[in-house]
Amino acid sequence: MSARGILPGLTVLVALTVSLQAQQMGTATHEVVRPPPPPVLPIDDIRFLSDDRLAGRMTGSPGADTAAAYLARRFQAVGLQQSAGGWFQPFPISRDAPAAQIAHVGGLTGRNVIGVLPGHDPVLRNEAIIVGAHYDHLGLGGFGSLDPDSNGKVHNGADDNASGAAMLIEIAQRLAASRPARTVVFIAFSGEELGLLGSAYYVKQPVYPLATTLAMINLDMVGRLRQKRLIVYGSRSAKEFPKLLDSLNWYAGFDLKAQGDGYGPSDQSSFYAVGRPVLHFFTDLHEDYHRTTDDWQKINVDGFGQVATFVTGLVTALANRPGPLTLMPPAATQMPASTGPPMPGYGAYLGTVPDMTDNPGGVRLLGVRAGSPAERAGLRGDDIITKIGEMSVPDLEAMTEALRIHHPGDTVSVVVRRGDQTTTLHAVLGVRGG
Ligand SMILES: [Zn+2]
Repeated sequence: MSARGILPGLTVLVALTVSLQAQQMGTATHEVVRPPPPPVLPIDDIRFLSDDRLAGRMTGSPGADTAAAYLARRFQAVGLQQSAGGWFQPFPISRDAPAAQIAHVGGLTGRNVIGVLPGHDPVLRNEAIIVGAHYDHLGLGGFGSLDPDSNGKVHNGADDNASGAAMLIEIAQRLAASRPARTVVFIAFSGEELGLLGSAYYVKQPVYPLATTLAMINLDMVGRLRQKRLIVYGSRSAKEFPKLLDSLNWYAGFDLKAQGDGYGPSDQSSFYAVGRPVLHFFTDLHEDYHRTTDDWQKINVDGFGQVATFVTGLVTALANRPGPLTLMPPAATQMPASTGPPMPGYGAYLGTVPDMTDNPGGVRLLGVRAGSPAERAGLRGDDIITKIGEMSVPDLEAMTEALRIHHPGDTVSVVVRRGDQTTTLHAVLGVRGG
């Protein structure tokens, strides 16, 4: 990490947080009586993180460093402790990662923020549940944005994923008031938008051993609840999850869509790839996804509270259950024996942005990541992928499988429906999170 990267961040941090700090800490040296500070609400956290001054929180940028410092201070304020390595887990942003080259952050440093709530049970406290959410976003666009001509404009990412980061704080605060048996580790990941860099680093350098980490619960885009529709990916990654989710929802009354194994387009994939059960909570896509209009005013505050209550109940149940969870492998991977060792979760990278709400006999794309193999192959928004290589692709799960059985560097044919036409394109696959 270069000092050039850190110092402007700290300057912005001081300017942005001094008033909040004054509220929280009080200026007790000069004053005798002060009313108690007003509580910081989740929407305050979302507003701070998605403020224009943080410039879209691109990993490695001063705005992301400001966000990281803020999150560490909020973790501490709600009762979390730092881990043995401190609040921050730095990781290098590879110069070779195509995404990092496009975003001009290769060679800089990203930071995960880690806060710990030790378990109260003398034995079970040696096991952990991870609750994670990425806090990085797309910066000034140009990379990953779905807005044409948005280069240079701040992408605030209020739902993606200031909402998840704020929910970490909210859940931590609630659990700190009645600590569960197992240790709960809260991680705000960076580098997600560049290809799951922060979570991929964590599973290589875990703060708590992965063997005694029961599960990873991921919050990515949880601020736009509509019609009580709550999506939970990964419910088939542990045998116990479907019943547990069902019973919790008996009280919550969500229109709960629980589905899929542990692979998906967010940080839970890193943990499922190393054999941990995972869940990803998601209040679904919307028209502001990866656009400059993903702003805090559009957050559903009541819905946020309902999701936070549900996830708090889930984490409590997991952290207090007597036994472990039963990992379920991905459904029939059709891994050919001749292609060498499997690379689960780190299979080949295509760089599409699939529309998770609408898969009409194939995977419809919202867009493609800038500079990705998909873009170079000529794929674009509204294309419907129906086949990759020899595998037909009726849905997102099949597409994930199709990519997993290929290797980076492979050239694959991609059959797409585009309007009335069917076209075959050729993509040279890259490395996921490379
Ligand atoms: Zn995103």
